[in-house]
Amino acid sequence: MDAALRRDVAGRLAELRAAGLEKRERPLAGAQAVHVQLGPETEVVNLCANNYLGLANHPVIVAAAHDALDRWGFGMASVRFICGTQEQHLELERRLADLVHAEDAILFPSCFDANGGVFEALFDERDAVISDALNHASIIDGIRLCKARRLRYANRDVGELEQRLIESADARHRLVVTDGVFSMDGYVAPLAAICDVAERHDAIVMVDDSHAVGFTGPGGAGTPAACGVDGRVDIITGTLGKAMGGAAGGYVAASSEVVALLRQRSRPYLFSNSVAPVIVGATLRALDLIAAGDDLRDQLAANAERFRQKMTTEGFSLLPGSHPIVPVMVGDAGEAARLAAAVVARGVYVVAFSYPVVPLGQARIRTQMSAAHTPADIDRAVAAFVAARASVMPG
Ligand SMILES: *Cc1c(COP(=O)(O)O)cnc(C)c1O
Repeated sequence: MDAALRRDVAGRLAELRAAGLEKRERPLAGAQAVHVQLGPETEVVNLCANNYLGLANHPVIVAAAHDALDRWGFGMASVRFICGTQEQHLELERRLADLVHAEDAILFPSCFDANGGVFEALFDERDAVISDALNHASIIDGIRLCKARRLRYANRDVGELEQRLIESADARHRLVVTDGVFSMDGYVAPLAAICDVAERHDAIVMVDDSHAVGFTGPGGAGTPAACGVDGRVDIITGTLGKAMGGAAGGYVAASSEVVALLRQRSRPYLFSNSVAPVIVGATLRALDLIAAGDDLRDQLAANAERFRQKMTTEGFSLLPGSHPIVPVMVGDAGEAARLAAAVVARGVYVVAFSYPVVPLGQARIRTQMSAAHTPADIDRAVAAFVAARASVMPG
């Protein structure tokens, strides 16, 4: 490697480390689940996976993956339009469209790619994209790849959104784009108000429902259904990498015309490999479980409620809501890091988030509940927080 580049990069890494911004990975010694192995001897309750329905290592899903491997093989060795489309890819697209009540859907290697490929294929310099300030990085990058005018409104601020709509009245199409649920807070986007204002100004609405699809709203249809704006959201993106098995993959669900154009024009769809057969087959089974009834969703909601209630009783400060993302607010970054380490030392895996991931002075431990947690897991987690607080913040 070039010596000058190596020196420069080493310097930048040192800066990250000095600023306390270095992310460290903890290798798990086994499968992703509500109990994970952080080494040979240490099993901990996991409170930081996006494994909302507990499907990441669910026996039904693992068996479906084995079956799909035998029937459909391991690799596709192709993009979709050459020889990378199996019958099951089309079935999964149909089923995803049905789940979120859209006309059609198109698979992508990830939701990052879905968001990376949706804007540029549909919009150009005649259009305007109006984006919530806290939208996911993949939305921000996707908007950058497209030539539309870019406008931003403060998180969930519908008044400011309307101002942006007024400012961009001359554009051909105006697209309002928001996360369905904001991942650092667990707050739901005000979709009813957003759809109202968008319709008043003749604008299009897009929702990235990654942190909601499968477990929010009737039948797991997501935040548009939960907010009563079913059919009023024009474009929905989402991931297969969270509640729906957690492996990988993403999708765009929209009108049949929009989906048809994306198949012709969206670059991550055209130029990246098909979703692996094992993932397609196992995700179809995940959709069966999601459709089978409310058991997993009810268990998830009960776990979130139990954790929120007990933590509040113990005097912890939580952000309000009912989402299984439950942020435990600390404030100071160093204190949040020390508290998280003390919770992990007591057998409960959590991670602290601080600036610049969240606003300065709002450091927190973001916990996430799963349907696969037992009440005993939740109680053990609360007890770990209480004991950890006593050890790092005496008095
Ligand atoms: C997780 C997430 C993504 C990325 O999903 P992948 O399928 O892992 O690429 C995109 N958008 C939002 C809102 C997310 O939470």
